[in-house]
Amino acid sequence: MNDTINVEEFFGKNVFTLGKMRERLPRNVFKEVQKVMDEGGELSKSSADVVAKAMKDWAVENGATHFTHWFQPLTGITAEKHDSFITHPDEEGRTLLEFSGKELIKGEPDASSFPSGGLRATFEARGYTAWDITSPAFLKEDATGRILCIPTAFCSYTGEALDKKTPLLRSEEAVSTQSLRILRLFGNTTAKKVVPSVGIEQEYFIIDREKYLKREDLIFSGRTLFGAPAPKGQEMDDHYFGAIRERIGAYMKDLNFELWKLGVPAKTQHNEVAPAQHELAPIYESGNVAVDHNQLVMETMKKVAGRHGLMCLLHEKPFAGVNGSGKHDNWSLVSDDGVNMLDPGLTPNDNIQFLLVLACIVKAVDKHAALLRQSAADVGNDHRLGANEAPPAIVSIFLGDQLEDVVRQLVSTGEAKKSKKTGKLMTGVSTLPDLERDATDRNRTSPFAFTGNKFEFRMVGSSDSVAGPNTALNAIVAEAFCEAADELEKAEDFELAVHDMIKDYFTEHQRIIFNGDGYSESWVKEAARRGLPNIASMVESVDALLDDDAVAMFEKFKIFTRAELESRSEVLYEIYSKSINIEAHTMIDMTGKQILPAVMRYAGRLASDAKEVREAGGDDYVLSLGLRQCTAQIRKLQEAFDKLKEDVAAAARFADKNKLADKKEQAQYYRDVICADMAELRAPADALEMMVDKNLWPFPTYGDLIFEV
Ligand code: ADP
Ligand code: MG
Repeated sequence: MNDTINVEEFFGKNVFTLGKMRERLPRNVFKEVQKVMDEGGELSKSSADVVAKAMKDWAVENGATHFTHWFQPLTGITAEKHDSFITHPDEEGRTLLEFSGKELIKGEPDASSFPSGGLRATFEARGYTAWDITSPAFLKEDATGRILCIPTAFCSYTGEALDKKTPLLRSEEAVSTQSLRILRLFGNTTAKKVVPSVGIEQEYFIIDREKYLKREDLIFSGRTLFGAPAPKGQEMDDHYFGAIRERIGAYMKDLNFELWKLGVPAKTQHNEVAPAQHELAPIYESGNVAVDHNQLVMETMKKVAGRHGLMCLLHEKPFAGVNGSGKHDNWSLVSDDGVNMLDPGLTPNDNIQFLLVLACIVKAVDKHAALLRQSAADVGNDHRLGANEAPPAIVSIFLGDQLEDVVRQLVSTGEAKKSKKTGKLMTGVSTLPDLERDATDRNRTSPFAFTGNKFEFRMVGSSDSVAGPNTALNAIVAEAFCEAADELEKAEDFELAVHDMIKDYFTEHQRIIFNGDGYSESWVKEAARRGLPNIASMVESVDALLDDDAVAMFEKFKIFTRAELESRSEVLYEIYSKSINIEAHTMIDMTGKQILPAVMRYAGRLASDAKEVREAGGDDYVLSLGLRQCTAQIRKLQEAFDKLKEDVAAAARFADKNKLADKKEQAQYYRDVICADMAELRAPADALEMMVDKNLWPFPTYGDLIFEV
């Protein structure tokens, strides 16, 4: 059906773009909108009414019936509550469709059921959504009809951020202000704004929906909690970049069309390392829009899968033993007059502005490594970080040969005289072109890698919102720029001061630079020697939010107040405990209702077969051996099952404790006790899967799930 569509005309069809605003708004109103987008401030009430009407007319012409303020509460996903455009019917029974400036700008969802970590008790449930003019409104199109979605921020009655967008926007303002100070120091007088450019590579798994529905663990927790490895894993490297199978291809095609309609510039698609794993990357956009679009990507991936009888898994580790999924957050800083502050040019040693920017980022990442690590922590990511597939849990920076060499020259002699040449890459075949070589080879194991003219933060989990990581990144870089500008603006000899500063920063913070193999055991030791934090789990990582340096920074740049940071910490502990609790209950359910009945039935069959053979005077050796082996595992299973049930019941003691310290203790209990119990239960269950008649096994196996999509 999509074969005749002209993508150039079709792209952004469901977006109320700047172009559409220009067409539909009176000139003065359009100018006002543009000014608010660029410089901040508020739209006048009359203009807001005009914009709302134009937006509604466009939406209704395109079949919309409802509008919603679309926001991003601390659940990490998006929220919407639809209101139709209809107004009170008149005496003749007719209705008019209306939408006012007031409705566009402000909403008041009864928001008492969103996590707020104590910021808002239920008796003061007011929460407000406020229009984010910098992210375009769009039409969501599905079985519900067409809904006009207005990206909004979500705040409490007293102005605290209850969402992920508000702090992100605050951090973008901070990094813009501080970046401008750096640009001015180097003589730029034209830039008015610096915006993070962000491109998010998203990994995901696709499996068959019928099979998915037979697995309680996938349904309730998003990952398999049981499952012996399939005979084949990813060891042949035959899935990575492999030819895309028809069923998946049809899905990807549909997905692209849906995303293009929403103005998401989906660009690259390929099969990933693990069987049934894939990746989609859009072209980078301004940070705030890229973050919103990543939410749409995740949502659309799931929605479109349903239409194809498929299921999209965004969990970081849906299957043990093969790679999990993450997303790479590609980040750079670009001014409105077109300067990418992370572009080194051909000879970075000469590019003092770039070297200062780089030195500041190195300093920022070193100082706030724990915070950056925290920003990528989520429940599922605990199974990945440091587990030989994703970047390690230790934050370090990869600069690549050329830049590392420049830094080395700077640190040792105080001067960088030359940049390593890139040169040609000779293929050795006369009919092939000789390629221009990149200045830097790739390093796939670094959590924070410089890749040409951007950094690639690779720790983020596949299901997580990228708002948090980008907020942290913008904040720490804003702080480093601010400190540098404070000093340099009052320097008597700027050239000398900047030169010394670059050398000092690199010297002081060079421990964070690591170009080697981040997966190796020796790096763990080396990092410990360098004093770099190695934070193994989400629960441990939360402390970083309330670290003195972090609180001071966030408060200074008005990104988070201490109260907001405390509330977020509380929410993170709660999310962790609740998620593990669900996983534990799911295991209990599957063990009690599915696995134990199946294995006991099988053992019973072995026992009666053995008895029959014995009574007939035959040799029951093999049957009895099988029975003994089976029984030994069933016993282990039963013991682990009882222990898990007991320990989960014991968690009730945390139920009505509300202090942050108690929430932390509860999360630690889930991590230390319940996760260990779950591993104990899984082991005999997976062993039994390998012994029991496949026809009796109560749910699809790994082989069924990831090889037969
Ligand atoms: P990779 O080699 O990692 O696949 P790509 O160049 O294909 O790198 O880019 C991956 C992502 O990074 C894409 O989303 C791309 O649009 C984005 N990207 C490219 N340049 C920049 C930049 N300067 N700032 C932010 N993101 C960028
Ligand atoms: Mg990549």
